[in-house]
Amino acid sequence: MSYVGPDFDPPRPRRPRRGPVTVAVAALVPGALLGWLVYEAVGSPGGDRGSGGASVRASSAPVSSAPPRTSPGDGADAKGPSPSRTPAATRTPFSSAPAATGPLKGKVVVIDPGHNPANVRHATEINRKVNIGTHWKECDTTGTSTNAGYTEAEFTLDVAHRLRALLQQQGATVELTQDGDRPWGPCVDERARIGNRAKADAVVSIHADGSGAGNRGFHVILPGSVHAGAADTRPIVGPSRDLGERIAGNFVRATGSAPSNYVGDGTGLVTRTDLGGLNLSTVPKVFIECGNMRDSKDAALLTSGAWRQKAAQGISEGIVSFLRG
Ligand code: ZN
Repeated sequence: MSYVGPDFDPPRPRRPRRGPVTVAVAALVPGALLGWLVYEAVGSPGGDRGSGGASVRASSAPVSSAPPRTSPGDGADAKGPSPSRTPAATRTPFSSAPAATGPLKGKVVVIDPGHNPANVRHATEINRKVNIGTHWKECDTTGTSTNAGYTEAEFTLDVAHRLRALLQQQGATVELTQDGDRPWGPCVDERARIGNRAKADAVVSIHADGSGAGNRGFHVILPGSVHAGAADTRPIVGPSRDLGERIAGNFVRATGSAPSNYVGDGTGLVTRTDLGGLNLSTVPKVFIECGNMRDSKDAALLTSGAWRQKAAQGISEGIVSFLRG
């Protein structure tokens, strides 16, 4: 599987006979964690798949069918063609004041919008190598785009803004690692440090993938156990998995999207040890690849503002569930 990098943790073969993934059942369950648990139950080999509701059949395509990724990049996804658009017109402050009330009062969430709309004009800077504990990698990458040119960097900023608004409504203090307000980057090591310095209770890095047509669905990337150089993820592996599972479960429920049909073996969860943004984090952190920009059906979703709002809602509810325990 060309998606696999040198340090990639292959998905566990926990579902060799993957059957229908009933997402509608999860949609009927109001509790965030319950939604995920139900989803997990109906998606597992021993689960009860006939418990009602319409079902969405996950692709039976084997993981090995994934076409070559164009680049391992430094982000979680492949590079796309050079975007030439100007950054989105909307500008909001780098960080925002906490809301006075709400269930997340006192909680700090850092949102990391993947890439930067202007990275494409700063190849030298973003190609500079930074140490991610296990090895050296590029500072940042340009990200991918849809075939029609909607860039991942535009997508990630838009979802980040929607997510920030939702979390602030819950009373959280929210900080973005970048808001299209800097010429490039930040580098992946700085992205991690921003969450660390903020002593964030949760960090989510927003992305969309650049895989082959026919590869569909979302996946949440969890930090694997790394202890090398400046990286020590051992304390955050457990809580990050909890965070990631809650986000995945709520993302299914809010968007109706199925978990990735090309990585994660139908779970929507992938563990990796080659991402600087995870390796260098000392606080609970996950990435989410919201869909595949190179698939026309996924692209139709990713370019829809209404769908992006649902995506932000799902991510927000996962974070709220995690922070409220
Ligand atoms: Zn990305």
